Amino acid sequence: MYRKSLTRRRFMTVAAAGVGATLCSLPLGRSAEAAPVSDHEALAYEKLDGRVVQCVLCPRECIVREGQRGYCEVRENQGGVYKTLVYGRVCAAHVDPIEKKPLFHFLPGTRVFSIATAGCNVECQWCQNWDISQARPEDLRSQYLPPKKVVEVARRYDCPTVAFTYSEPTIFYEFSLDTAREAKEAGVHSVTISNGFIQAEPMKRLCEVLSAVKVDLKGFREEFYRDYVHGELKAVLATIELVKGLGIHLELVTLLIPGLNDGEDETKDLSRWVVKNLGPDVPLHFTRFHPAYKMKNLGRTPARTVERARQIAVSEGVHYAYTGNLPGSEHENTFCHGCGKKIIERYSFYVGQTHVTAGKCDYCGAQIPGVWQQNSKAETPTR
Ligand code: SF4
Repeated sequence: MYRKSLTRRRFMTVAAAGVGATLCSLPLGRSAEAAPVSDHEALAYEKLDGRVVQCVLCPRECIVREGQRGYCEVRENQGGVYKTLVYGRVCAAHVDPIEKKPLFHFLPGTRVFSIATAGCNVECQWCQNWDISQARPEDLRSQYLPPKKVVEVARRYDCPTVAFTYSEPTIFYEFSLDTAREAKEAGVHSVTISNGFIQAEPMKRLCEVLSAVKVDLKGFREEFYRDYVHGELKAVLATIELVKGLGIHLELVTLLIPGLNDGEDETKDLSRWVVKNLGPDVPLHFTRFHPAYKMKNLGRTPARTVERARQIAVSEGVHYAYTGNLPGSEHENTFCHGCGKKIIERYSFYVGQTHVTAGKCDYCGAQIPGVWQQNSKAETPTR
């Protein structure tokens, strides 16, 4: 099994030291090679009359006149040809624990080389990474890392996986697609950490070279998506079903914001939808909100609200429901749905003892959903 579990003693030492996350940040400072302006033709767009283009990458379907950009600010109509301005233009690059994404059923205890470019196709009012997600590419210092180089760096830092993350990978689609292709050829996994606001055709194409997808299911009410995300719940649910249908390992995360999306009825509806449409084995994380961006006026989510949401999900039939941003909670750990024993011990992003071998519970032999070995595909329990 490809993993680097800590010994129990080391685990407790690391855990006691705090909840620091990033293992290493790559230099994007003055000494880094500055990224050239990208001149890469975009995929997923149509040419209309009068040098106007229509982007069909995400459900916004922006119609863009010559010289203008789409809503995400990283795609520009240059003389009737649509260009991505962020191909290879990396503004954040870190080696993280895979648990930080969070992906709990994907090579636990391993490192992931995580990259982002500027831009996003929605505007969550609480975004933790608003300084890059809401920026134009020219406003950020970036380093030029073409796909081959990304894979090379991942290998150099002993990362079996590359993650497209932090901002929104949909808007650097061409770059992530080429990187995932390159990575696959080199035996390196690729995962995307997305808001799921993407059209079906480009997502299908990307899934051909991905090993896992984490979708932020930001709430379960269309009004919430309209008012606080500036996106559409219906489109996100369609992406989630698509990914599940393609057999790619999938995990979902819902950040609970006090008074906005943390009602018990909403959590119940969300959990029911997951079980009915995806089955009980898709891991579902409920995480605690911290005030950020345009929502600094709200307090942190009470720990009991997060624990209660997890409990609701379990009572609705979800096999693997977790709490997040609550270091020390019992429900950061994984318990086998077959025998109930603790099979993966965690503290925040750190992994302690694991009792999963070749995708099976060491105690009862139940198949645990996920990707557990470097050279394997997603395991789905048979029911
Ligand atoms: S990816 Fe950007 S340009 Fe394309 S439709 Fe979405 S917001 Fe508009």
